[in-house]
Amino acid sequence: MRGELERFVEGMGEPAYRGRQIFAALHRRRLRSFDEMTDLPKDFRARLSERATASTLAVESRYVAADGTRRYLLKTHDNLPVETVFIPEERRDTVCFSSQSGCPLQCDFCLTARLGLLRTLTAGEMVEQIIIALNDAYGVGARIPRGTNLVAMGAGEPFLAFEPLMKALRVMADREGLFIVPNRVTVSTAGVVPKIRELARVEDRPHLAISLAAPTDELRDRLMPINKRWPLRELLAACKEFEESLKPGERFTFEYVMLDRVNDSDDDARRLARLLNRHKLRAKVNLIPHNPADELPYRPSSEERVEAFKAVLESKGVRAFVRRPRGRDIYAACGQLAARRIDSGVNRSGLYQLS
Ligand code: SF4
Repeated sequence: MRGELERFVEGMGEPAYRGRQIFAALHRRRLRSFDEMTDLPKDFRARLSERATASTLAVESRYVAADGTRRYLLKTHDNLPVETVFIPEERRDTVCFSSQSGCPLQCDFCLTARLGLLRTLTAGEMVEQIIIALNDAYGVGARIPRGTNLVAMGAGEPFLAFEPLMKALRVMADREGLFIVPNRVTVSTAGVVPKIRELARVEDRPHLAISLAAPTDELRDRLMPINKRWPLRELLAACKEFEESLKPGERFTFEYVMLDRVNDSDDDARRLARLLNRHKLRAKVNLIPHNPADELPYRPSSEERVEAFKAVLESKGVRAFVRRPRGRDIYAACGQLAARRIDSGVNRSGLYQLS
């Protein structure tokens, strides 16, 4: 935060405005080393380098897919993998960032789940992912095109990183920095009910998406074990309460991963429509064909099945959209890159060792 930087430099015997200068260099100019901040006196830069670092994430690999999607495997200072994806689209670009390295939730269709939780990321590590992706896409410090969106849908459960995530959003919203306001951010949860309620009380909050994956408790218990803790009834009740915080025209989003012959029948679509209609939710459903991986026991639903599922939802008055998976050739699905990179690096205790 800008104020924290002011206090930090004051602690070094420097005036507060130096802190504001550093904040602008890091966030508006998107510089990632003190050496590049040539508007700061050289001796001050040297002293800064002894006490702090301007960047903590290293780019380990960068992949560009045939459809232009860029995927980054980053590494924290303590050698943990972090995934970030930049998705170019005709009308607006999206940066998908991670809130945790690995994930403690055990969604059965997700490769990240195989890693377990390695660590929750700091606010700085979340912001830095976005800076790395923006610099690569537009150039260091170049203007961010209007409408560029952020989604917290990478590795991890964002609501288990609630405090650092909210701090990251405040930092990114600062006019002297990135100036990306929460209205351009969507946070996707697997269904941490108390935090849905907490988010509703946040004054300047991001949009909410909920990963549903199943229309019944029986199936959702199997696909997303978090459902055993907060079953659909509780989850949708919390969504109903959240609805009071929606602005005019705003909807929240249910993400529904489409798994061949698991959750994609017409009956499943009817059950899903019944569930949403019963709660009269101001919501839309995004249908997301599963990104397949050899390690996972699921296949993606066919395009015809996805379209048929969508048609059933729409016939029941539920707004539904098909999200085409992006960057399949670079494993651009949740958690796939890190899980592949370190497959042999996770030992039995769940601790990660980069080989
Ligand atoms: S789908 Fe998301 S919440 Fe579920 S295990 Fe994967 S990263 Fe975690």
